[in-house]
Parts: sequence; structure tokens; C-alpha cells
Amino acid sequence: MKNAESPQPRATKLVEPKAFGLPPSALSDPDELHEECGVLGLWSPEPLPVADLLQLGLFALQHRGQEAAGICVSNGKDLVIEKDLGLVTQVFDEARMQRLRIPAANLGIGHTRYSTTGSNLRFNAQPLNVRSSKGILAIAHNGNFVNALQIRQELLEHGAVFQTTNDTEVMINLIARYAKLNLVEATARAMRELTGGFSVVLMDRHTVLALRDGNGVRPLVIGRLPNGGWVFASEPPALTLMGAEFVRDVRPGELVWVETNAQQGKGAELRSMQVLKPRPTPCAFEWIYFARADAQLDGIGTHESRIRMGERLAQEAPAQADVVVPVPDSGIGAAIGYSRASGIPFDFGLHKNPYAGRTFIQPTQEMRDLKVKLKLAATPAVAGKRVVLVDDSIVRGTTSGRIVQLLREAGATEVHVRISSPPIKFPCYYGIDTAARKELVASTHTPEQIRALIGADSLAFLSEPGVREAIGGPVCLACFNGQYPAGQPEEEVRKEALETEGASIP
Ligand code: SF4
Repeated sequence: MKNAESPQPRATKLVEPKAFGLPPSALSDPDELHEECGVLGLWSPEPLPVADLLQLGLFALQHRGQEAAGICVSNGKDLVIEKDLGLVTQVFDEARMQRLRIPAANLGIGHTRYSTTGSNLRFNAQPLNVRSSKGILAIAHNGNFVNALQIRQELLEHGAVFQTTNDTEVMINLIARYAKLNLVEATARAMRELTGGFSVVLMDRHTVLALRDGNGVRPLVIGRLPNGGWVFASEPPALTLMGAEFVRDVRPGELVWVETNAQQGKGAELRSMQVLKPRPTPCAFEWIYFARADAQLDGIGTHESRIRMGERLAQEAPAQADVVVPVPDSGIGAAIGYSRASGIPFDFGLHKNPYAGRTFIQPTQEMRDLKVKLKLAATPAVAGKRVVLVDDSIVRGTTSGRIVQLLREAGATEVHVRISSPPIKFPCYYGIDTAARKELVASTHTPEQIRALIGADSLAFLSEPGVREAIGGPVCLACFNGQYPAGQPEEEVRKEALETEGASIP
């Protein structure tokens, strides 16, 4: 593997992104949890339409981030990056795809991004790239490094220059700093210095690397292309769309890379290094809500887990009702489980407008109700019925209240809200955009107070043991219980302490 080469700027075309002009906030609902990113990497032993394959894969990962998308491709000589704010189909128009279709391309990485408030700037779109003693490196990242600020400060003191405000740049600068180490060794060293929850794909002009933090908080899987090439993706459905076969998950704390010096026939060897001691606690919310219903993560199916959560919820919190209604799409799996375990018929009592996420209408203060109505409408299935309404979570509670109201307006006689996760009381520091703690309704209200706020006849949440058993493995539950398995950023702990001073259950 050529990993200690000198920079060759003249041989490399770096295409800077153009403004897309899309208002990112128009695409997201502040009362929902948002995954921050999806990542993708591809290496092929022979030229392939890499950009087109990555675009397909990113399309399958669109649910993990809808505010920006990017692709970086290389043919061993040129390296081209195209990225911008917007959905995958908006960013990669024909002009951009033409620029990415460089001759004889055989490797690349891709990224979809949801950015937290204040950082939805175009220059934060990924993949990010740096020129270094190892040549040009590009990186795409899902998750958060909890010690990023401290390391950033150290790097600044040693003369590093940062072009973005996101923590991904910290890792790439860290790797670039180890000039005497080859790319694999430098990446392993950076993994040891960084803490938090992160899955990363990284490339130079010859190879692709993929890695997962020691807790395996964010998912990352490996697939094999029919021509012997390798694909790395946040979730298996991206492999399927790219024509790759699922091989296995990247293990917590593992670094894998394609060893291009060891080509065997048409393929190449996938090398692995267990850099960090595995302490698996993947994010429970991947199974509760984020990952696609057709995904298997760490050997556990998301749809099946959601059904088990619903079954368990029905046992823990039964209701006298006539129909079980999911909040589409996130509540469907759990509602199926609740219906099966309770014997209460399942029906679609809410219709979701599939185009609502693309609206650019910005509801004003007076138009808040319109925001839910743009997205959801009650069906006649609830008229005259006692309804069990099943959703995956409550963040601020405002949307839940409006949905209860919609059902009542459509003739529901009772609305019993059942949530297939425990109350969210703490922020996530591992790549999910929860609200600040003071904005989380369960952080400042009891379940009974939340019930009154949303106007439901009854409200119940799934217990922590219920979530654990439904998933069937060790998981991170920090946003429910405040026990962070991969550490907390010091500055956030101080900030949260100040923000919540005086805030208590009234
Ligand atoms: S804190 Fe919550 S959202 Fe964040 S990784 Fe843990 S379980 Fe997932």
C-alpha cells in the first residue's frame, strides 16, 4: 500500500462545492430525533462507475441525514470531491455526476449529513479532505468525538489550521500529524486518542479504511462486490442497492482496510486490526427508530426488534381500546407488536404525506398546527374508536400533543399513547441530535404531567429492561439513564449543569 508518499498537488484535482442555496432547517422537524450521518466507502480491483454506485448507496442512507451529501472518488491519480447542502438527489445533479465520473475510478467514499443547529453550513459538508505527508486524505464520519475540543486545541497549539467547525476535521488532522507513521498506523493511533461514538470511512488515492469506536455506538458493515471489491456502509441496505453481499459488521474498536499490495486474482485482501478493546454498547435508538426497517445491525434485525418492543409494551402497559394506530413511519413496527400481544386490531389511523419532508414552507408561530397537518392526517379508521397511539419516542412533546388533537378531531373517543422507548431525559453525545436537556420534556416533567400536556387519556413508556430484552444485546441507554458508556465532553457537562440549574421535576 502506498501510504507514505509525498503530496502531489498538481496531479490532483480538488473540486470545491458550489452553493446550493437550500435552507436546511426547512427539511427537519425540531421535535424529532435526528441521526447525524450515514457513511459509505468502496474499493474495486478494476475501474467501476464508482460515483454512480456511491450515489445509489447514499440514497439508501438518506434517512441518516438529509441536510448535506458528498462523494469523493479517485482513480489512483486524480481525486475529486463534490458535496453540498441538500438531499442526495438534489446535490448530485447531472453536472456534478459528470465531474465525479473520472476515467478509471476504482475507489471512493460518500456521506449524508444531518447537522446540529448552528452548524448547518456548507463548509461542514463531508467528505472533508486535507493535504498531508501521506498525500490527500478524505474522511466521512458518523458520530461524535467527545474529546474533540481538547484535541483541537492541542492541534491548534501545534500549528494545525482548521477550515470547518465540525469534529471530523480533528481526526483527519490527527492522522495527518503522524508524518512518520503509515496511514494505517496513523489512523490506529488517532483511534486510540479519540473517545466517543464514531464510525468513520477514510481514503487516500489508493485505498479505503473503515473503523468503529470501541463501544460500536454507530453501525458499520462490510460487503463484497461480485468483482472482488469491498464496500463499507452504515447499514446493510446500502450494500444491497450497490450490488454487494453482506459479509459482516465492523467489530467495535476494529480498523479494516483494503490491502492493495496483496491482490489475489481479481480481488484484494481485507486487513483488520483490533485497535481498541471491544466494549459493545451500540446505540439503542438505531433499533428503536433510526436504522431502516430492513437493516440487520450486529446480527439483530431492526423490524423484529421494534415488534418485540411493541409486544413488551403491551404487556407492561395494557389499554382498553378498539384499534392500535402507529405514528407513521417510526411507530409501525412497535404498533404491530402491540397489536399482536394485546389482540387489539392494527390499523392505519394516520396518513403520512410522503412529500412533507421536502416542503420549504416555514411555519410561523401562528402556523404551528399546520406543521403537523402538512405531514399527517387522521383516517376514518379512528372515528368512534378508543385508540392506542404508538410512537417511538417523545422529545419536546409538542408534536405528540398535536397528533392526539388530530385523532380527537377525527372522532377518536379515547387516545392512549404508548411509547416504545423510555422517557428521554439526557442529551446524546454520540451523533444524535437530541434537544438540550432543558428542552427534553421528560427531563422536566413526570409522565403524568406529559400526559396532561399532550392531552392523552393515558400515557406509558417502555421500560429500560424492556428495550434491552427486545434488542437482545448490550446497548447504550444514556439518553434515558444518563450513564454514558463512551464518555461525556467536559465542556457539555459544565454547560448542561449550568443550563439545568434550578430545573427540576415541578
Ligand atoms: S445516548 Fe441515546 S441516542 Fe445517543 S447513542 Fe446512547 S442510546 Fe443512542
